[in-house]
Amino acid sequence: MRSVTMIRAIEYSLRFNVAMRCAIVALVLLPAGVYGLVNSGARDVSITHGPTNQRMVALTFDDGINGAYTSEVARILDHRGAHGTFFVVGETLETQGPTARDLVAHGHLLANHSYDHSRASKKDFFYSQVWWAQRAFERTIGKCPRFFRPPYGIQTLYVNAAVHRAGMRTILWNIEVGDWREQDPARLASLVLAKTQPGAIILLHDGTDGLQGADRSVLIDALPLILAGFEERGLRPVTVAELLGVSGYLDECR
Ligand SMILES: [Zn+2]
Repeated sequence: MRSVTMIRAIEYSLRFNVAMRCAIVALVLLPAGVYGLVNSGARDVSITHGPTNQRMVALTFDDGINGAYTSEVARILDHRGAHGTFFVVGETLETQGPTARDLVAHGHLLANHSYDHSRASKKDFFYSQVWWAQRAFERTIGKCPRFFRPPYGIQTLYVNAAVHRAGMRTILWNIEVGDWREQDPARLASLVLAKTQPGAIILLHDGTDGLQGADRSVLIDALPLILAGFEERGLRPVTVAELLGVSGYLDECR
């Protein structure tokens, strides 16, 4: 009798042990699993620069398409055999399709800078700005950009998740000199040149918040000086795609 009781006690204690271990493992794994699930699409996969061992830099122009200013930026780049990346506010494509197609035809890269340049809110759980802008690109140039830059550089979990859903990458920058408020073209050029190193992604603006006709003449006057400075230093201005060695458009729009 005694031995039977002892065996039962041992069995009970073994079961208890196994149950306890399972519970502990579950307690540890469950939150990790939930965390992983929630965050799998919300990781920050932003890029701020390219390889620093090659003499290439990427000039990026935000907030267009801005009519004649955007066209003039492209013409100055064309004149120097340079290519730029234009982070376009999707809404502007509805009326400026021909300019967008002209940029693509000249080897410049179009990228997504939201649909209407609104500020991302932490409560916007389904950030649809990426998707709406991609639809505008699909209609206008027949393909979808690989790169997204959030307005004001604001990244929330939901912004990052939307970028992930679209199969895109977020491109930020590592050179920024406040070009939107600078009044002196020579000063703007020298600020950019002083900071630029190989691999740099440089933030400039050919528009203002997607508004049509915003005066960007200071940039227009500064750009030839910036390009001349790059040439002197043997820095080649390329698109973000060329800088990173990937295609600038997705194989399939999502
Ligand atoms: Zn912007």
